[in-house]
Amino acid sequence: MNIIVFGPPGAGKGTQADNLVRNFKLHKISTGDLLRKEIDNNTVLGKKIKSIINSGQLVSDDIIRNLIKNILSNKKINNKLIFDGYPRNLNQTKELDILLKKYNIKISCVLSLNVDKQSVIKRILGRQTCSNCGLTFNEYFKPSTKDNHECDNKFLHKRSDDNEGIIINRYDTYIKKTLPILNFYKEQNLLHQVNGLAKIEDIYKEICHIINSIET
Ligand code: AMP
Repeated sequence: MNIIVFGPPGAGKGTQADNLVRNFKLHKISTGDLLRKEIDNNTVLGKKIKSIINSGQLVSDDIIRNLIKNILSNKKINNKLIFDGYPRNLNQTKELDILLKKYNIKISCVLSLNVDKQSVIKRILGRQTCSNCGLTFNEYFKPSTKDNHECDNKFLHKRSDDNEGIIINRYDTYIKKTLPILNFYKEQNLLHQVNGLAKIEDIYKEICHIINSIET
């Protein structure tokens, strides 16, 4: 099973992808996480990436291509993938399609989490990520507790691109560049719309329902 999760920033893609990774033993490919790793390594490329991310724009397709091409060729994981935040524009979608055919990987479903601009802003301002385990929480909607998080709270941090000005740019970039991709997957009958405003558990239930309806 291979899944693509779409949605504007703050739609809950990472949270739902983490749930699917845990319960279906999938491997998450988050280009955002891969880019942030590059930034943490403080390379020249990392510095360039940081300034693009902090403007709310998309990083170039060349950079993204280099980050993901080796992952897809790994036979051990290449039929248990969940794509979070990739592809992000029509060109990346076409390139991914070519790679999928090359490695004989079939997309089982494409989930689009729908959330409006105001909710996105509210959610992102509360978002916290654990630098130790990579899990995502939200100060207001899903705080880190002893039950859902093993690491110390000192590892929780806010992303540098999670401020109101950048969020609006990221949202607008999503509408302009990413949303048009959905038609590509709709034409292949792979697209499923999900109400991203529901409770995290209810969204997850809906996603599992979609997955079960595909697998049977
Ligand atoms: P995310 O963690 O998915 O919200 O991504 C954070 C930022 O990384 C985005 O706002 C973009 O600047 C950049 N980014 C992540 N994935 C991609 C991608 N597939 N193509 C271009 N830029 C990306």
